[in-house]
Amino acid sequence: MLELEEAISRILSAVRPLGHEMVTLREAAGRVLAESVASPVDLPVFDNSAMDGYGVRSADLASASAGNPSALRLIGKVAAGEVFKGAIEAGTCVRLFTGSPMPNGADAVVMQEDARPDPARPDRLWFLDTVKTGENVRLRGEDVKRGAELVPAGNRLTAGQIALLAAAGVSEIKAARRPRVALLATGSELVESGQPLSPGKIYENNRAMILALMKRSGAIPEIFPLVPDTLEATQAALEKAVNECDAVVTSGGVSVGEYDFVKTAFEALGGELSFWKISIKPGKPFVFGRAGKRFWFGLPGNPVSALVTFLLLVRPALAAMQGATETSLPKSTGVLAEPLANPGDRRHFMRVVVDEVGRIRSAGTQASHSLSSLAAANGLVDVPPRTSLPAGAAVSVLHWEW
Ligand code: AMP
Ligand code: MG
Repeated sequence: MLELEEAISRILSAVRPLGHEMVTLREAAGRVLAESVASPVDLPVFDNSAMDGYGVRSADLASASAGNPSALRLIGKVAAGEVFKGAIEAGTCVRLFTGSPMPNGADAVVMQEDARPDPARPDRLWFLDTVKTGENVRLRGEDVKRGAELVPAGNRLTAGQIALLAAAGVSEIKAARRPRVALLATGSELVESGQPLSPGKIYENNRAMILALMKRSGAIPEIFPLVPDTLEATQAALEKAVNECDAVVTSGGVSVGEYDFVKTAFEALGGELSFWKISIKPGKPFVFGRAGKRFWFGLPGNPVSALVTFLLLVRPALAAMQGATETSLPKSTGVLAEPLANPGDRRHFMRVVVDEVGRIRSAGTQASHSLSSLAAANGLVDVPPRTSLPAGAAVSVLHWEW
């Protein structure tokens, strides 16, 4: 049985990025950047006003005070998007708005609340205070210098990064190609939801669950029909999946029962098993294999085992296939509000509920078929073998609903 970290590192060293494609910024959210982008412009693009107010020469207001205001002559107005043709000379000012380019000669902006129009003379303004050089001015290039890296390759693009790229005039990026991933569920007991249940049958839930997780991993899921527990059916379904997709995720049929055919079927079509069984709970029978350039991730059938192994072992692979720098799950730290005990001899990824101040409780029963506690959970805590973590212990929580 492999240790989890060893299993992850074997998977990550087997998979490769799949290449890239051009994507418009509007389609870029959540896509992994395949090549870093350098800024074609300075940001701000030009010196501009940070306020609605007046562009001035700060030297003109060096002696202004409430008791001894200074007057300046208003010589023009520049709306955002316009440019002032002339230049500010001594004793003059220009009306500006947030984002207006700084007129030549002006070195500061006085906010309009600090200037008093002269009721007798519309072209005269009174200033009751001094202003520092550069005050209320956004300088060209102070945010980003032309040529500087806007977003490094390997980032999964966020709204903020997309805003930065758009502001620099970038309209398209090189995005990593998204892996197309077949999603198969094996088990003769399984019935599609929406269909009538006959005795001994259960509704299938793993494909819908993994589909939800896979969409957030940036993969393109391809849902395959249910696969009954026969070698022929399993082999036919796997063969089609391997031929059509970059990777195949199956659920069920990888344990030691007489109806567990998936490993045999995968080998029968020329696939090689890289490893089987990991020292974790739930999820021990997880399998990883490859057939040429295509990869197979065999999740155990119990829904909680399928979720945990997908998150710990498949999600990183899908991220690496997109060249993503970050392959692990988001984490937070919190404090146990009650003990979490793992008497077993494998690490137990226990379902927990973390509240808004970081207090952690068990999400309920930890049996690997129990879905109510899975639905209640918003995190997993990795509890070492033969360990009881006491109430009050600070622990790290893995999240998947991010
Ligand atoms: P297996 O890994 O095939 O031995 O399945 C383990 C348990 O998970 C059995 O109780 C199965 O009925 C159940 N199971 C397997 N696949 C699914 C699925 N896709 N949806 C719901 N339950 C499943
Ligand atoms: Mg089965």
